[in-house]
Amino acid sequence: LDIVEISRYVWYALIGGLVVSILVTTAKAFGVFEARGGTAGNVVTVAVECASCGWTGEVPRLRRRCPMCGDTNFTT
Ligand SMILES: [Zn+2]
Repeated sequence: LDIVEISRYVWYALIGGLVVSILVTTAKAFGVFEARGGTAGNVVTVAVECASCGWTGEVPRLRRRCPMCGDTNFTT
């Protein structure tokens, strides 16, 4: 195990750490960790059916309101 081989392993470790940090930064940029934490819950939609006009579609989970008639009475 000479100095050249040791320095090569050190180089590999540095590159590996760099790649991991880039992946973590990219994942944070795309909100991977925030989505798990629930801070992005205001953009989560749920499939519902309006009890008043029969419209079916997706509405924000935290603010259910029919885009057709404005009612908040859903069957699902
Ligand atoms: Zn409706």
